[in-house]
Amino acid sequence: MNIQNYLSSIMDQVVRRNLGEPEFHQAVGEVLESLEPVLKRRPEFVEASILERLVEPERQIIFRVPWVDDKGKVQVNRGFRIQFSSAIGPYKGGLRFHPSVNAGILKFLGFEQIFKNSLTSLPMGGGKGGADFDSKGKSDLEVMRFCQSFMTELSKHIGANSDVPAGDIGVGGREIGYLFGQYKRQRDEFTGVLTGKSLNWGGSLIRPEATGYGAVYFAVDMLATRGESLEGKRCVISGSGNVSQYTAEKLIELGAVPVTFSDSDGTIYDPAGIDREKLAFVMHLKNVRRGRIREYAEHFKTEYRPGATPWDVACDCAFPSATQNEVDAGDAKRLLEGGCRLVSEGANMPSTPEAVELFQQAKILYGPGKAANAGGVATSGLEMSQNSMRLNWGREEVDARLREIMRNIHRNCSETAELYGSPGNYVVGANIAGFTKVAEAMLDQGVV
Ligand code: GLU
Repeated sequence: MNIQNYLSSIMDQVVRRNLGEPEFHQAVGEVLESLEPVLKRRPEFVEASILERLVEPERQIIFRVPWVDDKGKVQVNRGFRIQFSSAIGPYKGGLRFHPSVNAGILKFLGFEQIFKNSLTSLPMGGGKGGADFDSKGKSDLEVMRFCQSFMTELSKHIGANSDVPAGDIGVGGREIGYLFGQYKRQRDEFTGVLTGKSLNWGGSLIRPEATGYGAVYFAVDMLATRGESLEGKRCVISGSGNVSQYTAEKLIELGAVPVTFSDSDGTIYDPAGIDREKLAFVMHLKNVRRGRIREYAEHFKTEYRPGATPWDVACDCAFPSATQNEVDAGDAKRLLEGGCRLVSEGANMPSTPEAVELFQQAKILYGPGKAANAGGVATSGLEMSQNSMRLNWGREEVDARLREIMRNIHRNCSETAELYGSPGNYVVGANIAGFTKVAEAMLDQGVV
């Protein structure tokens, strides 16, 4: 059989079955493009229809989330959980609360999560969920009522051994707390059903830091292949949430110079560099006061670019850490013209396929999200292990495990890329390595 035609027929089927879901098509297309050499070597994957099965979520749950706002008015949102693949472990993946959330976005994220989780080497399947809820401008009590209503339904479908959600955009420590409280109340079980919990009720040290730290560790390992380090490198970061903040923290620790943050309103550019004190301001601004990044520029008297992204700021390294498709071909060109030689993705699928193509043509170091940002979910896996054992590891222990996991992911991606004839191509490496483990598990488990 002609593998190219086979892959196109799978893609056609995905588009037909999931009309109007461009992000999901994009995520599937990107993985399928990498798989030709594996399918040639492993015809048993084709014979067992592994791909046909893998692109269809095992289960999709959609539910109404009614809640009462502070004015006493009933509001209705739509909640989702996409349980994509349980081939190598319980469904695992975050919850996103954002007005843009729909089934297509969550299918793209759930699909990516399968390969990312596989790369961590921990036993976690892939899933994703969330709601089209906008926490911007909502009071704490409104967020709590929303979370309680959301969990009232979701609790029927998740469990410590079946599906373990966590945070993502719009879902941080506060939301995980409200969600956990409601799960416990309904099921009467104190169990590791969510990760990203607070330290004094089952959370893991380093979990908040893990995605950002991991993206920087991955950058360190990519740079090492060219005999370079992060010392003195000027770095642009997009976003200003959890991932961006801890990316900056680790960069500062390693002697690099972060110069930007952004939010949906604009970008701050601080040519002098964001240091520890300035980062503490951002953390308080974003996590406690829940304000806008423009206040950084007002406070530190630096540049604010309303409506702009950070991609036209000259830099050595870029850490897209906000959201999907935030770097398009024009942005990629500007980054390359500005001297960027490394992209490590803290967000999920932040670069469009055209942008990725340009990075690869320019032969810069490009770490795709499913490898570079896997540190977050990997540390969620470590939180699950600690919950099962009912004990807590210390900070150094968790960080050392995270470091080791990121190093292994980097090695696995590079060796796999090399083995399949695309040395230095972390996209091919991540997709093939992530896929092979899941495909083998599916073969072992029969037609399910
Ligand atoms: N939302 C994060 C991700 O995209 C973390 C998921 C988790 O910890 O389960 O990988």
